[in-house]
Amino acid sequence: MTEDVNKPGYEIPPELSNTVKITTLDRIYNWGRRYSAWPMMFGLACCAIEMIATAASRFDFSRFGMEIMRPSPRQADMMLVSGTVTKKMIPQIVRLYNQMPEPKYVVSMGACASGGGPFKEGYNVVSGIDKFLPVDVYIPGCPPTPQALLHGLITLQEMIDNQSIKNVRWYQKGDLEEIPVPVLGPDLMDPRDFPKIKELSLMKTEEPVEPVAEEA
Ligand code: SF4
Repeated sequence: MTEDVNKPGYEIPPELSNTVKITTLDRIYNWGRRYSAWPMMFGLACCAIEMIATAASRFDFSRFGMEIMRPSPRQADMMLVSGTVTKKMIPQIVRLYNQMPEPKYVVSMGACASGGGPFKEGYNVVSGIDKFLPVDVYIPGCPPTPQALLHGLITLQEMIDNQSIKNVRWYQKGDLEEIPVPVLGPDLMDPRDFPKIKELSLMKTEEPVEPVAEEA
């Protein structure tokens, strides 16, 4: 247990210091979670190679309790979005995020995941995963180095340290709403916009068609 957890702000009598520890529930709760943020095992593009290097022996993110990459969203705590997010992939990514249990976090690794990167103007690329998912930590770079990824993961741990059971979203009353899975047609569509899209397309069909002038 870290020294910080053992310093609750109360004086423990010296004769009890080896047997009694006083701390807050938040510190214990966060201490357990910060060292077990298991990432979901997937990669989208070149940034994923740096992620793989960070997991390997030289950088070894198992030192931070993140070595157990889970192939199932139901066993993952953190979605590490590493690479270019295409319009074809985003419905699957949102669906996987919805399948992860709370508490869950999103780390956006690299320029592509954070804002489209060099492909921002591409017809097939989403200009940032945060258009769809709530991102907790952004890591800049193209690609970010393993050191940058480790820094991002340590930043996530610091964020977890500062959370409180009293106000985290997964302990609030009421159901947590799922994020609507975007639909890929000619372009991405948000299912919440369907009534508006339907109304607009009906208006289009009701518009009088201008007669085409015949050529002389
Ligand atoms: S940010 Fe750079 S390295 Fe990462 S996926 Fe995009 S192009 Fe590849």
